[in-house]
Amino acid sequence: MPVHVLDHPLAAHILTHLRDKTTKPATFRTLSYQLSLLLAIESTADIEIEEKIIHTPLEALTGHVLRHQPLVVVPILRAGLGMVQPFTDMFPDVAVGYIGLERDHETAKARSYYCKLPPLAGRHVFLVDPMLATGGSAVQALTVVKAQGASDVRLVCIVSAPEGVAEVEKYHPGTVIHTAALDRGLNAKKYILPGLGDFGDRLYGT
Ligand code: URA
Repeated sequence: MPVHVLDHPLAAHILTHLRDKTTKPATFRTLSYQLSLLLAIESTADIEIEEKIIHTPLEALTGHVLRHQPLVVVPILRAGLGMVQPFTDMFPDVAVGYIGLERDHETAKARSYYCKLPPLAGRHVFLVDPMLATGGSAVQALTVVKAQGASDVRLVCIVSAPEGVAEVEKYHPGTVIHTAALDRGLNAKKYILPGLGDFGDRLYGT
């Protein structure tokens, strides 16, 4: 499966502060934004561009602009919300969909409570979920967006566990995953090790 691990000194620096348990929610949100911005850039590195002739103050130039093909970003609520703004900042025409999946802390299973999606067929769809742990939510969300017509879906995560990557590969083979880190594995409560704890709780101070 194509797993792209962000390889950039700035990403390593931001991720280390994000993992630090002394990092407070306000800083955590800023760091999440910064890391998600790097991931947004990396995960869109292969989207189509087309030639455009413009004139600099000095001469004509054939430059390149993004081919108009609306992107769709779909956060898995609630933690995925912390990764949306970089996409809306970088791609002002982006459409935003929402899939609400809640993780039961006892069973670690995902439960759907909300789904609102724009048209997905023919668009690049970026499913954003900061923690790819068991892969249960990602698999469920991938199933939902594909059922709604998406054929080009990338999964964008901040920290991933090998178990989650394997689960996604099992149910949605070939899915492209962009992540800032591929960690060691899961603990008995299905948290990622070393991880950063509960992303949603740390983002919102709950
Ligand atoms: N979700 C989180 O927020 N953290 C984990 O470690 C696993 C799932």
